[in-house]
Amino acid sequence: MTEAAEIGASGIGKSFGRFTALKDITLTIGRGEFLTLLGPSGSGKTTFLMVLSGFEPASAGRLTLNGRDITETPPEARGFGMVFQGYALFPHLTVEENIAFPLKVQGRSAKDIAARVKEMVEMVGLGGHGHKKPASLSGGQQQRVALARALAYAPPVLLLDEPFSALDKNLRGQMQEEMRRIHQDTGTTFVFVTHDQEEALALSSRIAIFERGQLQQIAPPREIYERPANRFVAEFLGDINILPLEAGGFEGRSLRLPPGQGSNLAIRPEYMELSLAQPAEGNAIPLRLSDLTYLGATTRLALTTAGGVPVVLQRPTASLPEGLNPGAELWTSWEAGRGFLL
Ligand code: ATP
Repeated sequence: MTEAAEIGASGIGKSFGRFTALKDITLTIGRGEFLTLLGPSGSGKTTFLMVLSGFEPASAGRLTLNGRDITETPPEARGFGMVFQGYALFPHLTVEENIAFPLKVQGRSAKDIAARVKEMVEMVGLGGHGHKKPASLSGGQQQRVALARALAYAPPVLLLDEPFSALDKNLRGQMQEEMRRIHQDTGTTFVFVTHDQEEALALSSRIAIFERGQLQQIAPPREIYERPANRFVAEFLGDINILPLEAGGFEGRSLRLPPGQGSNLAIRPEYMELSLAQPAEGNAIPLRLSDLTYLGATTRLALTTAGGVPVVLQRPTASLPEGLNPGAELWTSWEAGRGFLL
């Protein structure tokens, strides 16, 4: 079995003609890590994955694998496993033959291959489907075959580009769980591309946020969600209320502000409590309700501060007072530690 590998990227740049797709990307991907590259469309995630794979040469910078320079190493010599959006399975081969393919290329013995294929079919939960052709499998099953094929020869690194984008929501959730288990079982270093924030938070040991070819932050999910490095990261990872301290309607209120720099107070909506009267103590500001959207289990409330700054909260519908209508005067409060300055 190949050991999981550590990858180093130092000052990686990539240009297509005059267009800069990646700029000065420096990061280390630890052995056995599940690193997710997250960012909006066109931010350079796939390009970075292709540079890691060796299929796109970097225009600048160096890449290392376990400390060894691989910047010029061709893709086949890097030996990374890859799983892409389209599963790219061989349609005329069965599930088992698809998984066996890379092992045959490696020249392994028939006995060895049969044992490994059996192991992989079980690992991805396709026992009993080994003799089927891809066309007779569901999307999720095909995705598992692609995963099994990429993992069959125990690559040191597995690169995955939006592997679940073609799956419906339920199947996607199921595949995410399996992916997490497979990552734990194999201990392989995973580099995973997605533009789905929840998927990134659920799966990753760390998330790297890309914007316009630049790395904005790299940190574990909780840290990146609760302590985003900048406004882009904060807004990209979910709803956030950003209150300019000068215009937020804080006049005359003695708020406990978190340490840090920035002229805006940022708070995730789930940490903002709502009440009809001013709370006895703690950080609180008055708000006027401008709109309510009933979403079933939760209700979305659009509010404004006295300074006219919009605040959006989503609350369990059951927790809201009856007969709440636009125009209502409410208070929001939060624990001081839940806010941060941006
Ligand atoms: P998505 O989520 O839409 O897949 P992404 O973050 O993966 O986006 P990339 O595919 O890496 O983004 O593309 C980054 C930028 O580089 C885009 O503006 C794209 O048009 C450009 N680009 C990518 N490949 C090429 C190429 N071969 N030639 C020219 N421009 C390219």
